[in-house]
Amino acid sequence: MTVRFVDEFRDPALARSVAAAIAAEAHAVRDYHIMEFCGGHTHAIFRYGVQDLLPANVHMIHGPGCPVCVLPIARVDQAVQLARDHGVVLCTYGDLLRVPGLERMTLLKAKAAGADVRMVYSSLDAIRIAREAPDREVVFFAIGFETTTPPTAVALKQARALGLENFTVHCNHVLTPAAITAILESPEVRGLGTLPLDAFIGPAHVSAVIGSRPFEHFAEAYQRPVVIAGFEPLDVMQAILMLIRQLNDGRAEVENEYTRVVDRDGNTKAQALVAEVFDLRSSFEWRGLGPVPYSALRINAAFAGFDAERRFALAETEVPDSKACACGAILRGVKKPSDCKIFGTVCTPDNPIGSCMVSSEGACAAYYTYGRFREAERVPA
Ligand code: SF4
Repeated sequence: MTVRFVDEFRDPALARSVAAAIAAEAHAVRDYHIMEFCGGHTHAIFRYGVQDLLPANVHMIHGPGCPVCVLPIARVDQAVQLARDHGVVLCTYGDLLRVPGLERMTLLKAKAAGADVRMVYSSLDAIRIAREAPDREVVFFAIGFETTTPPTAVALKQARALGLENFTVHCNHVLTPAAITAILESPEVRGLGTLPLDAFIGPAHVSAVIGSRPFEHFAEAYQRPVVIAGFEPLDVMQAILMLIRQLNDGRAEVENEYTRVVDRDGNTKAQALVAEVFDLRSSFEWRGLGPVPYSALRINAAFAGFDAERRFALAETEVPDSKACACGAILRGVKKPSDCKIFGTVCTPDNPIGSCMVSSEGACAAYYTYGRFREAERVPA
């Protein structure tokens, strides 16, 4: 059975022809440094061996587009505090249970020690739990980029419509364009020039919500081409080819490879929903990038009664990452997972030391699962 929009984007013959076009059109006299912002693209690149189909002078740089990876330790600690010290029912998505916080405490360990931590598949599961247990405080620990923000807005509106007094949200929703600006303004790119960065593969699902328009700024102001791409291997390869063509021509434009889902304006209904419920934070801490101005959302005054940060008066702390962990540098594109001294030895998906080894979208987890033997010496046949 053929699965539409999947099989044709994994076709080996087509992949070979796009690879041949990339090899023919990439000029041997120069290098191409392309950042895939999204963890979904990083995962696809390793899962399907896209990197092995590229010429040696086309370099893929993994960006910070994995929401689990960029959540700073202090926010993980606030979730642990809520579950352990405030006795709430803490609801969140599965990957977050294993992200190490201070002294490698996780929500999963808090649960093992008796805290009521529950894995949910959607924000509305948390609403259901709050309705079923009116005598318990239920907190939804919400994370994600622009893709998962509208469902949190729906939950908040539903909580208000139902008059739920025992439901709040701990909001950690972050914004893609602000993170790209932070990378382009980082010392490694702008000051020292130690991170060559020629172009971006723009996010897929995020762009379905916000459209391709917000990326035009990076093409115009920073002269960096952007191609929005889907998550299948041929989407990624086609985007690489389109970026190489732009760089060869000296163009810096936003192009859209993912036209089957994304348009210039995005999902305006979802955008209106988000605007109704959230305000911009003036600054938010990202793992790896530090405080990034206007890069995250907070629950606005109209929904303040459902804001866990207001209800529980949680302390804002800054907690440094583990010294052994290179997640920060990896999320800025400065290092690769294999540069970390404890990659694949002390730190594995079963025993993650840093956040990049937790989610399948994390660069370390993708390297470990699909690419950890790439650089090993081949044994002669
Ligand atoms: S391998 Fe583990 S410790 Fe090293 S950078 Fe990745 S997540 Fe951090």
